[in-house]
Amino acid sequence: MGRDRSTYTGLPREKIKWHPRIDKTRCNPRECGYHCVSFCPFKVFSRVDGTVVVSNPSSCNVGDESCRFQCPLGAISFPTREELKMMLKTVREELERNAS
Ligand code: SF4
Repeated sequence: MGRDRSTYTGLPREKIKWHPRIDKTRCNPRECGYHCVSFCPFKVFSRVDGTVVVSNPSSCNVGDESCRFQCPLGAISFPTREELKMMLKTVREELERNAS
């Protein structure tokens, strides 16, 4: 059984905006054979009408950007570490505000 991925450090995963972005001007799935789609074990990417889309952003493993290094055309990007830290801080503060 896999670990519970609905939370990350106690925060609801769907509130954390960590996921890959695809630069459509660089992406060319015919050249790579849809490599990111087959590489990602969490099914974050999907094939749609000859293109690739980020169809399951909240399934992405928070902090993991291994697919970025797999893309031969440098089309995948992620938030920076600093942006991730700020996202987590914002979600945590929001939860604390709602709890009080
Ligand atoms: S691996 Fe890169 S070039 Fe290939 S489909 Fe994914 S984003 Fe596009």
